[in-house]
Amino acid sequence: MDYFRYVKGRLHAEDVPVEDLIEEYGTPLYVYSHRTLERHLEAYSSAFREIPHILCFAAKANSNGAILRLIARRGGGADIVSGGELYRALRVGIPPAKIVYAGVGKTDEEIRYALGKRILMFNVESGQELERINAIAAQMNVTAPVALRINPDIDPETHPYISTGLRKHKFGIPIENALQYYRLAKRLGNIEIIGVHKHIGSQITKVTPFVDALQRMLVLVESLKAEGIDLRYLDIGGGLGIQYNDETPPHPRELAGKLLPILKGQDITIIMEPGRSIAGNAGILLTKVLYLKRGDDREFVIVDAGMNDLMRPTLYDAYHHIAPVRKNRRRKIVADIVGPVCESGDFLARGREINRIEQGEYLAVMSAGAYGFSMSSNYNSRPRPAEVLVRDSEHYVIRKRETYRDLVRGEVIPDFLQ
Ligand SMILES: *Cc1c(COP(=O)(O)O)cnc(C)c1O
Repeated sequence: MDYFRYVKGRLHAEDVPVEDLIEEYGTPLYVYSHRTLERHLEAYSSAFREIPHILCFAAKANSNGAILRLIARRGGGADIVSGGELYRALRVGIPPAKIVYAGVGKTDEEIRYALGKRILMFNVESGQELERINAIAAQMNVTAPVALRINPDIDPETHPYISTGLRKHKFGIPIENALQYYRLAKRLGNIEIIGVHKHIGSQITKVTPFVDALQRMLVLVESLKAEGIDLRYLDIGGGLGIQYNDETPPHPRELAGKLLPILKGQDITIIMEPGRSIAGNAGILLTKVLYLKRGDDREFVIVDAGMNDLMRPTLYDAYHHIAPVRKNRRRKIVADIVGPVCESGDFLARGREINRIEQGEYLAVMSAGAYGFSMSSNYNSRPRPAEVLVRDSEHYVIRKRETYRDLVRGEVIPDFLQ
């Protein structure tokens, strides 16, 4: 469980008892471990040390400024999917030369913004997008650095909602059409082709899909070479899984162990875009037990964190381990752990065996550092939780808890209703 562990029966984040954090900041509360983030970043950089590479953290996994700043300080870049993420990355000093931009629906404004900031490259997902980027670059009198996102038609064997690299998905350009699109790109005067990109899905717990996809990409790289198109960047995407429950995902070292032999001798810089495997197990969500209630056929533990705070359980049917903040030896119960939101889909766990818990006690939802806060919303007019970063025995608020006032910021009541 990384740097979240029990000391004398009390759950700690690094050297801080999480009860201290609860006392100071309240619940629901996101807590991140600095050491865990550093360790995960280090795991990638040492695994891929032998080859030229850039680690572009997938900002959508966790876009908090302090987290992105930490990435920047460690020499990392960002994989972005919107103008908003570009803004966040630049704000904390991630160099534009380490920013790659994916996404099937980039708007004119977003393209203009990214061109103006001179990002490393656009990961282009369609022919029309390519032409749009070319046209905007021409207006701005610049050249747009581009990689094509190729859909290699590889099954990552993960949850269908987080699988992206199959023929049926909206992402990328089908590999069998790749050459044709590269030829199109070559004809466009304000496009500079510099790379190729793929990202086949998320929470991938085997190495094989990465190897298979890479091999398909390298065949493409060779065919392009034969046509006089030399690529400088090969972006292998993200997607490495983490342990939520009983998965045994490969360590970056194992991934590198299989990929490096294939990449050796290639005169190309590798870009990788991990998100979950950096931030997922570096964060937890703390929540208070509000009520216990016996349903018809089950027990409900009603807590103060809901689907608006952590959407993964209801969105992906995702498993998050749920641990008591204070260890106990009470009898086991099987319960649905649910939030206060008025939706049947508002649960953090269903049919979960946990030690009996009492009203007013606290639970930790583990592995919540990626796609946790970044997916949160204000549904049911719930202010979003605070976020805290723990470093050894120190802790820092990296996002304040929202207030009711924050909820209505930007709303306007028209004159005729005054
Ligand atoms: C979401 C995403 C990632 C990150 O995926 P993880 O599973 O969090 O590592 C990387 N690249 C692209 C293009 C993505 O959309």
